[in-house]
Amino acid sequence: MKNSKLTRGYFPVNLSVKTICKNILNLGKPPLNHRDITRQQSVYFSQSFLLFIRPVMFISFICLLAIWSTETYLQQISSFNKFCYPLLTLFLATNLIYSYRSKTNIEVVTCLFFILFMTYFVVDYYYIFIYLEVIGESSHYNLSSLSQWLPIAYIGAFLFLKKYNALKFSLVFALCLFLPELLCFDNVYNHSPIAHSLTLNLMLSHPVYICLLWGVSHLKMMSYHDRNNANLMYKLSKIDSLTKVSNRRGINESLRKMLSEYKRGSTQFSVVLFDIDHFKSINDQFGHLAGDEVLIAIADSIKSELRLFDELGRWGGEEFIAILRHNNYHLVSEITERLRIAISSLCFESIPQKITASFGVVHCKAEISEKNDQKAIELLIAQADKALYKAKNTGRNKVVIA
Ligand code: GH3
Ligand code: MG
Ligand code: MG
Repeated sequence: MKNSKLTRGYFPVNLSVKTICKNILNLGKPPLNHRDITRQQSVYFSQSFLLFIRPVMFISFICLLAIWSTETYLQQISSFNKFCYPLLTLFLATNLIYSYRSKTNIEVVTCLFFILFMTYFVVDYYYIFIYLEVIGESSHYNLSSLSQWLPIAYIGAFLFLKKYNALKFSLVFALCLFLPELLCFDNVYNHSPIAHSLTLNLMLSHPVYICLLWGVSHLKMMSYHDRNNANLMYKLSKIDSLTKVSNRRGINESLRKMLSEYKRGSTQFSVVLFDIDHFKSINDQFGHLAGDEVLIAIADSIKSELRLFDELGRWGGEEFIAILRHNNYHLVSEITERLRIAISSLCFESIPQKITASFGVVHCKAEISEKNDQKAIELLIAQADKALYKAKNTGRNKVVIA
């Protein structure tokens, strides 16, 4: 699948805005099963996040500088932060520069950024409790200012990780924060009822953050599922259920695309309409199931004969249509002749007689000056149909070019 080429483990490599947008808009192949959908979800979320990781790091860098200078000016900076702020600023600056220079390692940069800040939050939190007695009142400022930043851990986790991993991480992180309160650091709290009520607030508000983020991430996943299903249904609506080639709707769409490419001068194409000879008698003699088997075998055989950029469709009943892209009209006669031989060489256990088909070919020429694309397509098909009937009326099992 396309995405597996893009990803190494959980995060995408070879990142470019175009690639990210393409995946976000889901223009690639639709996922075919639940595992594909889950994998695409992971890629979708990690890519969405990576799209703004640089701005996030840049804003964090500015905020850190602002907090550092304000706390220094107001003389509220703790000795732990006196040591940590320069280190964090330096780390953020190098990480930011590195993220621009090395596109392929952006996943490492992002992980480091996340892990380092989470570790800092927890260590700073415990530092405040350990030195609560010593530091006294200014620890209240430190604790309350740190508390405002702690929920970022949950947001980061739900952005970064798969839903269940994010939940596990959030619960462990919350437990780390609740430990001082749960283990009843009585001697500490006796000195500081404010710290006591701050951590109580923290214990009450953080589960709410986790529940909300879990809900948001669940809703996002659901909408992603719905979009994938809609995409899948749209693709299926253009496929013939028996032969698995394009149906009339799919072929019409391809013809429109090809016609607009032709008008832009980027490609030439021909339309090959073919119809199985005396198919009714095959149904009558050997049954409808045998007839279906013939239709499937013909579609498979023609598909294998065509090149990747050609397209095959079932126009209706036992009539098929192939769109051949080319830059040389002589090539089309060769290919169509090959298709005719491929059909007449098919063998069926239940059908002793030879199966053949008649072909009508029309080249899309500059004379197709019809402004309305749908009318131009109808004109092309009508010409191919005329050639096909000529083939039928002049002996069948042959190719006629309009
Ligand atoms: P000709 O050589 O002139 O094309 O004769 P024909 O018998 O092939 O053409 P005709 O239009 O008389 O018959 C087409 C038959 O194709 C009639 C129909 O039952 C059969 N048919 C159409 N769709 C299907 C299908 O999905 N499965 C099967 N088994 N038969 C189908
Ligand atoms: Mg027929
Ligand atoms: Mg027919």
